[in-house]
Amino acid sequence: MIYVMFKHFIGIASIAFLSACGTPESDTVLLQPGVSRELAQFRKEHFEGVRYNLFFSIPESRKEAVTGKAEITLALRKKQPVIIDFRGEPEQVASVLLNGKKVSYAVKDEHIVISAKDVAKGENRVNIEFTANDQSLNRRDEFLYTLLVPDRARTLFPCFDQPDMKSLFTLSLEVPASWQAVANGAIGQEDSTSVPGRRRVSFRETEPLSTYLFSFVAGKLTRETYSRDGRTISIYHRETDPKKVAQCPDIASEVFDALEWQEDYTRIPYPFAKYDLIILPGFQFGGMEHTGATLYTDGRMFLNENPTLNERLGRSALIAHETSHMWFGDFVTMEWFNDVWTKEVFANYYASQMIEPLFPEVNHSLNFMLDYIPAAYSEDRTAGANPVKQELANMRDAGLMYGNIIYDKSPVILEMLIKKMGEESFRNGIREYLKTYAYGNATWEGLIGILDKYTDDDLSAWSHIWVN
Ligand SMILES: [Zn+2]
Repeated sequence: MIYVMFKHFIGIASIAFLSACGTPESDTVLLQPGVSRELAQFRKEHFEGVRYNLFFSIPESRKEAVTGKAEITLALRKKQPVIIDFRGEPEQVASVLLNGKKVSYAVKDEHIVISAKDVAKGENRVNIEFTANDQSLNRRDEFLYTLLVPDRARTLFPCFDQPDMKSLFTLSLEVPASWQAVANGAIGQEDSTSVPGRRRVSFRETEPLSTYLFSFVAGKLTRETYSRDGRTISIYHRETDPKKVAQCPDIASEVFDALEWQEDYTRIPYPFAKYDLIILPGFQFGGMEHTGATLYTDGRMFLNENPTLNERLGRSALIAHETSHMWFGDFVTMEWFNDVWTKEVFANYYASQMIEPLFPEVNHSLNFMLDYIPAAYSEDRTAGANPVKQELANMRDAGLMYGNIIYDKSPVILEMLIKKMGEESFRNGIREYLKTYAYGNATWEGLIGILDKYTDDDLSAWSHIWVN
């Protein structure tokens, strides 16, 4: 689903003062463009308690730049250089303060680097004023939306752009007065009077999120709100055809069904403060599971009059897939993007579990066989086929993780796993897995380790053959 332009590796940077501090022995690896596995591990080991307080000012005209302010707080276990990801030119960084004071810094190879000698042991606060790149803002006339998967948060704001540095985000947006704004967190305050012609929307702090799931949408949007059993969701859209708008109650109903199904299966109540969806014209994927603010493409949500069975089934499956990601992907997230296939294969599996009973006229198991098995064989038998579990040295290549093996072979593997374990043991194992890694990160091996307790089979050996 997701393809990222591969920018050829230009060279390895070495920043002299880092070595002079005597900290990371392999700074050439840490400071290469992108986010290397080594940099990710270095930060995970030394930084903790990361919080972002972000502000973006969004002009009405696409010709004017979006500017921002980021306050990043983090605790350092010992004095270490603070290496922040930001994929922009040095002139896009207007100022950097450390603990309220000006500090020297380097903008190089897609990072902003503050030397270890300037930081304090324990809590540090970095304030950066910057100009955002348009690359991930998807600016159109009258609206924009961010899409940061897999490693594009760093094109929008300075951050630690790796999935296992989950952080709390507080966001404020200043937008044209006639625009709406929606983000991961619920709206806390709105102010339309302080700045003439502008509206300031402040969102409440999120639960721990990976950077690739951070998102906001702003623009001229219609908002419709629906409630069921004390739960309220909003649908934001730009549709004008009354026949299509009239489908919103059906869409909301399918979202409620999916949330309830997943809560029942996992025994974990929806783990985030609110759930909204934004249906966008021309959105490049079917959907993207931004926590609490899922984006969908209009063509698959608003169906034509007299839709075919496949179109109806497709919409239900899409809603079920994205909703399932709130638990599988958002609540428990892969540690590194080489395990991205796990969240996709789970979301597809649960989507099929949810929608099969709704379409009894379809032969689902025949469809499964026809869709995946010949395709998996024809790819896997080729000389260059890769295992499901791949190596990923740098987040900038995360787009290369997606391929036919992931899409066609991994559903077959999951089906085999569930057949081996039995559905009930599998469900019990999944419940323990979600509890164990709540709001955190997991690996495939971590999952197999838990599932192994629920069966007499040796799942590690099986996984080695089929996944590795
Ligand atoms: Zn997905």
